[in-house]
Amino acid sequence: MTAVNHSLSVPVVFADRFYMSERSLAEIGSMGGCTWVDAKDGVDLANKINGSSSVKVIVSEYIPVNDLVLDRAPAVKGIISYGAGYDHIDVEGMNRRGVLVCNCRGENAQAVAELAFGLLLSLMRRIHRADPWVRAGEWVKAGRALPEWASGQELWKKTLGIIGLGQIGTRVVRIAKGFDMKIIGYDPFIKPELYDRMGVESVSLAELLSMADVVTVHVPLTSATDKFLDSRAFSSVKSGMILVNTSRGKVIEERALIKALQTGRIKGAALDVFASEPLPSSHPLAGFENVVLSPHMGALSQEAGDRLSDSVARQVRDILEGRPPECLIL
Ligand code: NAD
Repeated sequence: MTAVNHSLSVPVVFADRFYMSERSLAEIGSMGGCTWVDAKDGVDLANKINGSSSVKVIVSEYIPVNDLVLDRAPAVKGIISYGAGYDHIDVEGMNRRGVLVCNCRGENAQAVAELAFGLLLSLMRRIHRADPWVRAGEWVKAGRALPEWASGQELWKKTLGIIGLGQIGTRVVRIAKGFDMKIIGYDPFIKPELYDRMGVESVSLAELLSMADVVTVHVPLTSATDKFLDSRAFSSVKSGMILVNTSRGKVIEERALIKALQTGRIKGAALDVFASEPLPSSHPLAGFENVVLSPHMGALSQEAGDRLSDSVARQVRDILEGRPPECLIL
């Protein structure tokens, strides 16, 4: 028998530690309140909720929410994914139980699109190498004779291949236009007329990989996109291609990427996400000078944080008041 936990007496549980604005916290406070439980994993989350009949909504950024959690959360009506991706939530399992699942669609898209270009520009113009070099006093030693690596490459008029043209992918399109890039895209799930409207040429995945100078990935992690870019894909890319991944690490077969970087088939990579996070400094990807790394921070702009908080508060209200939340996942 499940022991009843009397200490969790609020309707909203935040599974992990993400940013919430004071305004949104006050709004949720007016609906009965919330608490952070700082769960380590799904089992820990289940143990912390521990049968409470008060908890109606779980908000989780990364902590898995599945049957195991719901078995210990009998009153839960809805799960909110704090962000865009929801691969940590068992949507099918929740639907089976009549529990609503939603995300915060679009609220962090501009932040991720801008980071994708930030990483890409850093890689192309070697900013990631230049900054520590100047700080270490190497410029003073070198004088005007800058090292060869300081001469990078431009984005102007290059071909950009975008895989996944949803909230983030479409914002990447807008930014890329400022660089006069030729934009090709692969997303079989959007309406064909959207390509024309965006000024993007619709191509197959194979065409995209063989034509693009830069490939940027913006698909969700699903069973269909798990290791989507594998050794076969990398063997068919345009030689010297640059890869940007701000989606999910598992979309790329990392071993195949490492090999493609070693052989030079891929000239560089800009990565915000990894198969296993956090990435240890001993990881082979951390050993390449032509790889720029960031710690899964694509969504972390202050503006996106405020938009996400507002979205969470609105959807908590929807769920508590018995309406389908605005970003319901079906
Ligand atoms: P979205 O749902 O708006 O767009 C995803 C697009 O991918 C859709 O247009 C969909 O049709 C397309 N797609 C799905 N499966 C595909 C496939 N097999 N082949 C080609 N296209 C496919 O989501 P979004 O807001 O653009 O976010 C995309 C992903 O980015 C999220 O699922 C999340 O994993 C990741 N993300 C990462 C960060 C970060 O911090 N780095 C932040 C937000 C989102």
